[in-house]
Amino acid sequence: VSDQAPLVILGTGLAGYNLLKALRAAHYNGPIVMITADDGSAYSKPQLSTGFAKQKTAAELVQHSAEQMARDYQADIRIFTQVQALDPKRKVLQLSSGASLQYDKLVLATGAAPIRLKLEGDGVHSLHAINDLLDYARFRTQASQKKRILVLGAGLIGSEYANDLCQAGFQVELVDTLQGPLRSLLPAAASQCLGNAMQQAGIRCHFNTSVTAIEQTANGLRAQLVSGDSLSVDLVLSAIGVRPNIALAKAAGLSTEQGIVVDRYLQSSAADIYAIGDCAEVAGLVRVYVQPLLAQVKALASTLTGTPCPVSYGVMPVAVKTTLHPVVVNPPPANAAGDWHIEQDQADGVRALFKTADGQLLGYALTGNQTALANSFNSQCPALLP
Ligand code: FAD
Repeated sequence: VSDQAPLVILGTGLAGYNLLKALRAAHYNGPIVMITADDGSAYSKPQLSTGFAKQKTAAELVQHSAEQMARDYQADIRIFTQVQALDPKRKVLQLSSGASLQYDKLVLATGAAPIRLKLEGDGVHSLHAINDLLDYARFRTQASQKKRILVLGAGLIGSEYANDLCQAGFQVELVDTLQGPLRSLLPAAASQCLGNAMQQAGIRCHFNTSVTAIEQTANGLRAQLVSGDSLSVDLVLSAIGVRPNIALAKAAGLSTEQGIVVDRYLQSSAADIYAIGDCAEVAGLVRVYVQPLLAQVKALASTLTGTPCPVSYGVMPVAVKTTLHPVVVNPPPANAAGDWHIEQDQADGVRALFKTADGQLLGYALTGNQTALANSFNSQCPALLP
């Protein structure tokens, strides 16, 4: 590899672009090439699930165009370009344009993709997912003349979209296999409180069930539930979770598990290849949120500018943007020994604390008016990755 080979960042999401900014802020002067399959617009992905109520078009969510980012941060940004293969030995990327690109160092910031549901019926082609600005533009266009929307999945993203579409005046049907919204993150009382607020706002909730088929009808779509019931809707939005984009890394022989396996320095199993953001599995943790990726960016920018720095995570609660009834949750570590204690359970808010037998606070779930207490509990919880 010649001295001229660039640092290549694959992906222009929050991980990729924040790394670009951090490197230039740290006076990294070498050439940087960025590659993205989409149009390279800089935007804040969390705003996708509050955009309908705020009446924001996709264009209005763009903070900077790829052209502006290229100019402001001296980067060669290749848009609508797919990386099809990676050769870690020769340090070469194969691009969809037919060209190949040599790198000095490579940062994979390939994000995560929506999990696709396998359903029966002649209406399945009308299943939408919104995971980037282009999806958002497409969905807004489809929804412009429509009224009834089925949201599949009441996890974090599905609950936010249901909340947003309801606030924007759509008739929302919300379906989840679990007993209530956010049930994999929240104890029953907190989930129920959110569910009640959703129903009071007019969201029709269908829990403990799932959709088996989507059929086309004369005036829209019919979703068949396992219970035998069916729902008449105009559009279906699937939000049943995301999975890290690891295919490229895996095909190149890099170590992958749920995500691309990296150490605390964000270094993958291959020399000079790093991974950050939703695609990375750091010390066994995949965290598809903004705070962890910002911690990774800070550490990696330091490492790449000559001061090796391991990433660490403090307490990182998740704020769920269900404005009908907001939620802040700091889930306890997986398989932690302890129990949820419901300290307050009222219609305007639930306060639940997850404690060990000897009273140590490991996590919390706050809803409604109790969310204001989050800061006071953060200082008592253990760091996610000390
Ligand atoms: P992405 O933004 O997905 O970027 C991936 C990039 O990789 C894209 O540019 C893509 O084109 C490119 N790419 C991938 N593969 C290839 C390839 N082979 N060739 C070329 N390009 C490729 N987190 C929070 O902390 N708080 C929130 O409130 C919150 N709300 C959210 C709401 C919604 C609706 C969603 C979907 C997510 C939300 N998140 C939230 C999660 C947060 O947005 C993500 O963790 C974050 O945006 C991930 O950024 P990323 O850069 O890792 O990935």
